[in-house]
Amino acid sequence: MSEDPSVDRFIKETSILEEYNINWTQKLGAGISGPVRVCVKKSTQERFALKILIDRPKARNEVRLHMMCASHPNIVKIMEVYANSVQFPHESSPRARLLNVMEMMEGGELFHRISQHKHFTEKMASQVTKQISLALQHCHSLNIAHRDLKPENLLFKDNSLDAPVKLCDFGFAKIDQGDLMTPQFTPYYVAPQVLEAQRRHQKEKSGIIPTSPTPYTYNKSCDLWSLGVIVYVMLCGYPPFYSKHHSRTIPKDMRKKIMTGTFEFPEEEWSQISEMAKDIVRKLLKVKPEERLNIEEVLAHPWLNCTEALDNVLPSAQMMMDKAVVAGIQQAHAEQLATMRIQDLNLSLKPLNSVNNPILRKRKLLGTKPSDELFINDPEDEAEDTNVALEKLRDVIAQCILPQAGDNEDEKLNEVMHEAWRFNRDCKLLRDGLQGLSWDGRSFSDKVDRLKLAEIIKQAIEEKTLLQDAQ
Ligand code: ADP
Ligand code: MG
Repeated sequence: MSEDPSVDRFIKETSILEEYNINWTQKLGAGISGPVRVCVKKSTQERFALKILIDRPKARNEVRLHMMCASHPNIVKIMEVYANSVQFPHESSPRARLLNVMEMMEGGELFHRISQHKHFTEKMASQVTKQISLALQHCHSLNIAHRDLKPENLLFKDNSLDAPVKLCDFGFAKIDQGDLMTPQFTPYYVAPQVLEAQRRHQKEKSGIIPTSPTPYTYNKSCDLWSLGVIVYVMLCGYPPFYSKHHSRTIPKDMRKKIMTGTFEFPEEEWSQISEMAKDIVRKLLKVKPEERLNIEEVLAHPWLNCTEALDNVLPSAQMMMDKAVVAGIQQAHAEQLATMRIQDLNLSLKPLNSVNNPILRKRKLLGTKPSDELFINDPEDEAEDTNVALEKLRDVIAQCILPQAGDNEDEKLNEVMHEAWRFNRDCKLLRDGLQGLSWDGRSFSDKVDRLKLAEIIKQAIEEKTLLQDAQ
């Protein structure tokens, strides 16, 4: 991993309290890393947003990638970052933390802001899209994929009509090192585009097709898919892949729609919306990443550059006034993103018939027949057995995201989780994450949110891999 030493130098070791007062009661918003708070600079009385993270490699990476991108006018600025020891009231001892002081985005989150507009027009939607696209262009030009582009991470500077919108939260951002052609698999449940990447990769390696100058960039294309969903929702007020059955995980029919790219433009809301808008949505919501527009093509699209008035008032603002609707849309989007990131996980490679995990082997017999030459990947092949602990974690992810094939799925999950736990007890991130999921060291006492578990495990894997890289 390429380190940028200037970032660590930028991090201050002095106490944040010398320069800022922290408001511990007011919360600006909360994501997976806890609430973002308000702090006030003592010398100027100016308000800032403060994101507090446990100081671990993953958090350093978040800060580093955010700082690399933060000079752009559509990306939330970082003012300064402190590394301090902080003890919260419920903790028995202080912990090393990173305190990220950012510019304050008083206008709040994208959908909340839109809901306050009396007349949110197609033109406004196009202008917001343009700003989000400029932010993405900046990240992608630095070879950084954001991977968590969703409405909660898009904030307005203030409440004025022409307030800029900015991208925040680099918690899942990743440097796209051009290695995204590496086949990235989940054992038996593979998105068509991933299979395609595998085939291309094999062919390129064997010289059948020349190595493409621009690698097949899986992560960046996820950002564009997300942009498509956001544009769709901004225009009509409901998501493109909608299921009436609300559940905590993505319902099957919605999943199917996502995989096949089935979505519609129902007349009632869409008859007033321009063809140009529908065209950009269609081109962003392509199932195959290589068919999706890239960010340069988005910025060149007529919908973002047209001089037409586009002053039709959109139905979305009205719909977004219902907080439950917004929460549902956001949850579905976040889950879809989590699934995509899990697909991107570099699982270790073995021909399917040599998989020796008994549960997975049983699965293979039970489950969908994999396509020919399907590999659970490891680009370096021979080395795959060297890290048993990582492999055990990956087994859990596989179990979490495989289609549920029988009655004893919970038992199987407990089994693989127990194995993973035996080899990874030392991982603090894992211990913390499991605390919220009723893991007692042998089994889960409550029903598990599998996507959430997969996300926690994935973070543990990423942290372990980062640590390995740093050594
Ligand atoms: P997480 O990684 O936990 O999702 P985020 O960086 O996305 O953390 O912050 C969580 C929430 O806090 C955001 O969705 C937003 O509502 C609020 N927030 C984050 N940064 C700012 C900011 N600079 N100004 C105002 N609110 C912010
Ligand atoms: Mg967030």
